[in-house]
Amino acid sequence: MEELQLILKTILKEKQGYITFLTGAGISAESGLPTYRSIDGIWIKGTKYHKPEEFGTYKYFSQNQEEVWQYNLFWKKMIAEAKPNLGHFAITEIEKLLGDRFKLITQNVDGLHQRSGTQKVYEIHGSKQKVRCSKECSEPFDFPENIKYKEYMEDLTPDDIDDLKCKKCGNWLRPHTLWFDESYNEKYYHFDTAYHIADHTDILFVIGTSGSTALPVNIVETVKIRAKWIVLINPENDTYFDYILKGSKTLHSIQESSSVALPQLKNMMEEMINS
Ligand SMILES: [Zn+2]
Repeated sequence: MEELQLILKTILKEKQGYITFLTGAGISAESGLPTYRSIDGIWIKGTKYHKPEEFGTYKYFSQNQEEVWQYNLFWKKMIAEAKPNLGHFAITEIEKLLGDRFKLITQNVDGLHQRSGTQKVYEIHGSKQKVRCSKECSEPFDFPENIKYKEYMEDLTPDDIDDLKCKKCGNWLRPHTLWFDESYNEKYYHFDTAYHIADHTDILFVIGTSGSTALPVNIVETVKIRAKWIVLINPENDTYFDYILKGSKTLHSIQESSSVALPQLKNMMEEMINS
């Protein structure tokens, strides 16, 4: 942490670019949520085994709306039962310390950052707390409160099905999340904003994410090309990010879980700012 202390001291003194946090499934895993790509992410319906890459698509949804909603309502239940952890809360405190220089970009769709109190969150893969019309006839809105979450194998009721239809056009609502066969955009997923942030970042903390989706990789690449600091916080040290950043002079790795490393980082920043 000593090297990081020196780096941070300089960056805090310069008062220029953003101090950016990019978070992924690893931080939510510490709240007990399964990582999407792990074995837990596999959805079993009857005798069929589906990988997220197969059923997490618009194509699959357009043919199996009830099944995809059943899976999503089970996820909603897991999310509702999960609590933000020390890592989330440390980020909330860091936001208060840094003000406008703080940026948080998250791949997570569980809303735990907001529940821990972080104000400004860019959800680049959308949010399970919101829905929108699958025919895009209106803007995304909050998940309807009357829809009950589901146990793993629980079927939708006729009322659920009714509530999961767009009130305006009658088509199915869909989760407000990016599927594997869809593209990023600014309107729903802050695509341009994420690049703008990367272009103006002095130090990027990459937390609990391995680099398996396109935009996070591009954010890291952008910061790397600009020779700004990148701090990887991950108990694993053989992720795709470790691979693409190998040998980089502006890389600092903390091989530690986020619930341990982030409170330490928060304390460090607090001391620097208040001294
Ligand atoms: Zn509609």
